[in-house]
This record gives sequence, C-alpha cells and structure tokens, in this order.
Amino acid sequence: MLLSPEQTRALYQHAATAGYAVLAVNADSPAAIVDCLIAARACDAPIIVETSLWQLTGHSFGVGDPCLGIDRFLAELHTLAACERFRDVPVIYHTDHIKGPATVSILTHAMRKRASSISLDSSSMSAEENIATMIRLCEIAAQEKLPLTLEMEAGVDDGVTPLEETRTLFGEVEKRMPGHLALWAPGVGTKHGLGNDLGGFNPDAIRAHRDLASELAGRPIGIALHGSSGLTEAQLAAGVAAGVAKVNWSSESLLIRSEAAAAFFDQNRERLRQTHPDFKATAMDNGLQQSISAAYVPKVMARIESLGGRGRAADFLKTLA
Ligand SMILES: [Zn+2]
Repeated sequence: MLLSPEQTRALYQHAATAGYAVLAVNADSPAAIVDCLIAARACDAPIIVETSLWQLTGHSFGVGDPCLGIDRFLAELHTLAACERFRDVPVIYHTDHIKGPATVSILTHAMRKRASSISLDSSSMSAEENIATMIRLCEIAAQEKLPLTLEMEAGVDDGVTPLEETRTLFGEVEKRMPGHLALWAPGVGTKHGLGNDLGGFNPDAIRAHRDLASELAGRPIGIALHGSSGLTEAQLAAGVAAGVAKVNWSSESLLIRSEAAAAFFDQNRERLRQTHPDFKATAMDNGLQQSISAAYVPKVMARIESLGGRGRAADFLKTLA
C-alpha cells in the first residue's frame, strides 16, 4: 500500500521508536521500482522509493518536466502498491534532492498529489533560506489544507553538523510550524557518491542530533542518513542503533544495476545478432530487466536486513488497524 503523509509520519515514528531504519532507494526506472517492491515483500519490510530532480526530469518519467515526472512516478507506485502482490508492503514515495528556482512549485505539486513525504536539497541555500523554504511549504499546506510530512536537512555533505544547528534550523521550523517535521538530516560524516573518504562517520553525532531534535519536537524524530553507499554493514548497524530511521541509497544501487546490465550485454552478444534464433527474446526489455532483477533484488534484501527492516511491515500495519 502506498502510504498517505499521515501514515508516513506514523511509519517514521515507528522506525524511530522500534530501532530500525527504512531503506530509501533512488529508483530511476519502472523496473527498479518493481525490484524494490519485490525485495521489500520478500523481507516483509516497509520501503521508501524516492526521486531526486534528476530522476523526475529523466527519460523514464518526466522527460524534462519534473511535475510530469511526479505524476508518472506516482501513477506507477499507486498501481503497483495497490495490487494483490504488494498490498501488504508499506510503500512511501519521497521527494529527495529537489533544488533550484522551481523547488517550491515542484514540491507544491508533490503535496497536491499526496506524495508521502517531502524534502529538498539545501546544499546551495543559506540557513535563512532553508528555514524560509520549509516554512513556506508548511504555509502552503495550511492554506490548501494538505497533509505534509517533512524531512529537513543541513550540510549533509559537509562533515559533522554542529549540534547547535539542530536548534537554530530544525528547532526554528518546529517552533513556527509545529508537527510537520518527521526526520532530521544533519551531516554525520558521510558523503554522497562512491569511493569517498568515510573516515568521519560519527554515530555519536547521530545520537546527539536525534536526542536534541526529539526533545525540541516533543516526539520521536528519526535521523535520515544521506550518502550511505560506501558504509559497511557494521557502520550501518551502529547508525541505526544511534537513531537513524531512514537510509538513502543511490550510488551503490545504480552501480549494481549498471554492472548487471553490462554483464547481460557482454554475455549475450551472439544472441543479439539478427540471425540468431533467440534474437527477439534476448533483445526485448524483459530479458535485460529480468537479468538485472536477479542480481539486484538480493542486494536490496541484504540492505533491508542490515537496517533491521525484516518483519517490520506486519508490525507497522498492525499499528494502523
Ligand atoms: Zn542525499
């Protein structure tokens, strides 16, 4: 089932309270979305499928138009998450790194279409702009009577965020527009991408930010972890134990899928000749996608397991009943 913003807030609190994290995959094609749902179902786990601006405008979804991208992505998820096979998988649709002058209009469109939860990329914003944009989204939600569940971020690629920023950024938005924030994403020593120096990963900072954000909000607030691709299983487990409730996963996911695609074409070069009797079955998108899926789904399942996600779907659905 695709979760509403209200149900999404409940799931983030469930994760923060029960001590596990929900995997958030940047799925950049319809086939990648299907694979995420297959893996989540096999683990009886909730899953977050999220899109940054590059996916919304990409060829599989918006073809240059981010709002069309949201509509097509949501159409895909609504249909899949409601079907018999995936009805018991709690699915969140989250807007990940959205940036640039159209940020508020894209996110307003996402709110109107009932995206499960919303965040934006604050990397080129000042603290004041970050706060003002979050407040603006809350005001629009209030004016239009739309439900809104927010992740707020600060300097996720800039080392460890000083604890004081939890008070001045997160605390300020919570004070002026209480109740919308569900996740806080400070920098905790990770970096986006692959092969970056991860020497600074800091679970103690996660714990301190989690505790202060929860105190300021008066409810459990989970930490959203960006740049998780290069972390080991032990580091992920330490992050979850310290209060991570959502783990974004993009670069490594893309690497697994693109390596599987490259292997498929390497192994099937002969069959892709027009005179080969298996040409058609090999050239169809289904051949490639099934092959990628076989390599990818076990890796997604392993990631869900290392975040403590197994069995949490049924647990969470009971709390909604
Ligand atoms: Zn990120």
